[in-house]
Amino acid sequence: MTGRFAPSPTSALHLGNLRTALVAWLMARSSGRRLVLRIEDLDTQRVAAAAGIARRQVADLAAIGLDFDGEPLWQSTRADAYAAALFRLGPLVYECYCTRREIAEAAVAPHAAGHRPYPGTCRELDEAERARRRAIRPPALRVRADAAVATVHDEWAGAVSGVVDDFVLVRNDGVPAYNLAVVVDDLAQGVDQVVRGDDLLASSPRQAWLSLQLGGTTPGYAHVPLAVNPAGARLAKRDGAVSLADLAGVGWSAPAVLGLLATSLGLAAPGELLTPGRLLARFDPAVLPRTPWVVDPAQLV
Ligand code: GLU
Repeated sequence: MTGRFAPSPTSALHLGNLRTALVAWLMARSSGRRLVLRIEDLDTQRVAAAAGIARRQVADLAAIGLDFDGEPLWQSTRADAYAAALFRLGPLVYECYCTRREIAEAAVAPHAAGHRPYPGTCRELDEAERARRRAIRPPALRVRADAAVATVHDEWAGAVSGVVDDFVLVRNDGVPAYNLAVVVDDLAQGVDQVVRGDDLLASSPRQAWLSLQLGGTTPGYAHVPLAVNPAGARLAKRDGAVSLADLAGVGWSAPAVLGLLATSLGLAAPGELLTPGRLLARFDPAVLPRTPWVVDPAQLV
């Protein structure tokens, strides 16, 4: 049994990311699971900076007292595993030549969270038509899902069902898509408990369905409400002192930040100094807040 935390190395972890990591740690450790770390560094545009940012993220997680089992898995080293998964999916995989704009124009109503179900334009093309379109633009790869309905179980949201559209497995620049990589790696790492931000809740039926197609089972999910700024927008670097390094600059030690996170989860009194281990005894997933955590960086200086 294994849980995981899977940051994207795009910028330093902010308070919301650190809080989700703490919940992932508490969920795994309180249920006797291993906990693994995965660096989701597939976006080639950022590859040069990503390694440094990822190392900083790993150091920040350690600084607030979170430990992981084994070495982090870097998605940039996993090309063979993604290729093997595509091979296994075989006839379910097809080439798609559509641009974003074509999909937007052909789409039925946009979905919740802005996701547009793929209208199926390239699903049934004959080989001559494929060759013609392939000469115009490099294809992305999609999976034929036949509008399957998949249901997952979320620790807080309960049963969540979704219609699986023909989502992208490989982008048209050749980079494996998030939804493919995440499922292949969760299977490879033996993950049966996925803890992450609740912006990804709507992706989970799709991912659970793909896991079954790849011969796996469906993990359990626990989607944590995001951290937001006082205006209600998702917390970000521009909001001010939100990373561990920023906070250190205004006098917050790493253990004090852990205390702040624990307080936001209803697990500690303000100012209490703790370790993650001490929080374990108090941890009960049933009582975690179900609404976004409002962070006002102006109050932290
Ligand atoms: N890498 C994603 C992020 O940092 C998380 C993906 C996941 O946990 O499935 O938002």
